[in-house]
Amino acid sequence: MNYKSTRNSAELVSSAEAIARGISKDGGLFVPEEIPQMTLEEIGELIEESYVQRAEIILSKFLTDFTADELGYCVRGAYTEEKFDSSKIAELAKFGENAYLLELWHGPTCAFKDMALQLLPYLLTVSVRKTVADKEVVILVATSGDTGKAALEGFKDVPGTRILVFYPENGVSPMQKLQMTTQEGGNVGVCAVKGNFDDAQTAVKAIFTDEKIRQQLADRGMMFSSANSINWGRLVPQIVYYISAYCDLLANGEIELGEKINIVVPTGNFGNILAAYYAKQMGLPVGRLICASNQNNILTDFINTGVYDRNRDFYTTSSPSMDILISSNLERLLYLLCGCDDAQVRRWYAELKETGKFTVSDEVREKIQAEFSAGFCGEEETLQTIRDTFEQYSYTCDPHTAVAVKVYEDYKKASGDQAKTLIASTASPYKFTNAVLQAISPETNPTDDFDDIRLLGLLTGTSAPQEISGLDGKEIRFTRSAAVDEMPQVVRELLSL
Ligand SMILES: *Cc1c(COP(=O)(O)O)cnc(C)c1O
Repeated sequence: MNYKSTRNSAELVSSAEAIARGISKDGGLFVPEEIPQMTLEEIGELIEESYVQRAEIILSKFLTDFTADELGYCVRGAYTEEKFDSSKIAELAKFGENAYLLELWHGPTCAFKDMALQLLPYLLTVSVRKTVADKEVVILVATSGDTGKAALEGFKDVPGTRILVFYPENGVSPMQKLQMTTQEGGNVGVCAVKGNFDDAQTAVKAIFTDEKIRQQLADRGMMFSSANSINWGRLVPQIVYYISAYCDLLANGEIELGEKINIVVPTGNFGNILAAYYAKQMGLPVGRLICASNQNNILTDFINTGVYDRNRDFYTTSSPSMDILISSNLERLLYLLCGCDDAQVRRWYAELKETGKFTVSDEVREKIQAEFSAGFCGEEETLQTIRDTFEQYSYTCDPHTAVAVKVYEDYKKASGDQAKTLIASTASPYKFTNAVLQAISPETNPTDDFDDIRLLGLLTGTSAPQEISGLDGKEIRFTRSAAVDEMPQVVRELLSL
């Protein structure tokens, strides 16, 4: 099966090429030419299998140019009990009458990004070997916090790769900074940038296309690649956990084979919810896909009106991984829903670039509304939902998950829909201790970060993941801070060019 670009349907590449290249030359995203199908019988048969086996079977339908040995090597390396504090990899927690939280944060950095970024290094190195032979891959990342750490953990000590991460010196939380500056591994580099996230991102993009550095890399048998969420290699691992969760619900007797479930996803870049859409298109019995936004509710408006308009205020919220006004992966959905009309996609995205806005046809809007519902949750309501959920269900959720819970409850009230529902839970509450403490214990004054973590443990009767509590007193390995225009030099030094 080949992959084509959303901005040029004639551009056909293998899955290994799509993953090695990340993004198409025309700026489009790669999508599979057709969506592979699974019958109910096939889904039912997965009940007996482990997460690793389910992943191997589902991925083999999309990555048809990978051999069984290659795929087995990738999934067995990524989803181990050493890296995930659960043998099931993703856990299900019952939530009230008809809902289940799908906890996707049992990986090494305690956010759902691990589900894809633990596997991507394997997929990428195999893809590079299959397409451009024995090059060492250098991953460059500019991060606002979560992606950088998840990518560092994923690529740490993976043979044939190096990873360099730049983060804005004053733009990440103390815990996020500590997670990165204490990073272990022989092939990793981390550097603070005197600037904001956009400055770091722009400089990284310039380094990617700097001919002189590229030539120096090529002379040493290296090449650049990217680990950001437009890479198909980050999307495809996310399809697996929706199908796997359905199997777990079957196994636990919560649903019957063929019964439709709804899926609620707290959404930023539209990657996670798009993976749920792909699972549905493959044949997973899914009713509504419910897109939950925070105060940055551009997707709520788009799904309800067909107008995508980024000319609006940007809010910094307690769910920062959803503070986003350009949801890159929406392009993949629009391409599929307009009948793979690449010229139409080019027009929409040219308009977005020029005017910050585009409007889809009534037909496309109706197709979106036939599958998706949308809602959003403001800051006050997010904290209130964390508090209510804690008091009502003794369950502690992080602010991103709280947004999804609130939008689910609003949806249920408005629609009367009682279908069983899966709510994606995307981060451990310990990753956002400040907001969670503020919600469940407003009289507490924030003190030391690690004291707060201990207090949250006492209040909730849970314990912090070792990956977070273990940062206390850990050796700082990376103290370097560079001006934006020094970044190319930092790359040269770290790679000994
Ligand atoms: C990245 C992230 C999201 C948003 O996921 P998208 O795929 O970008 O929609 C939600 N919650 C958390 C905790 C995240 O890190």
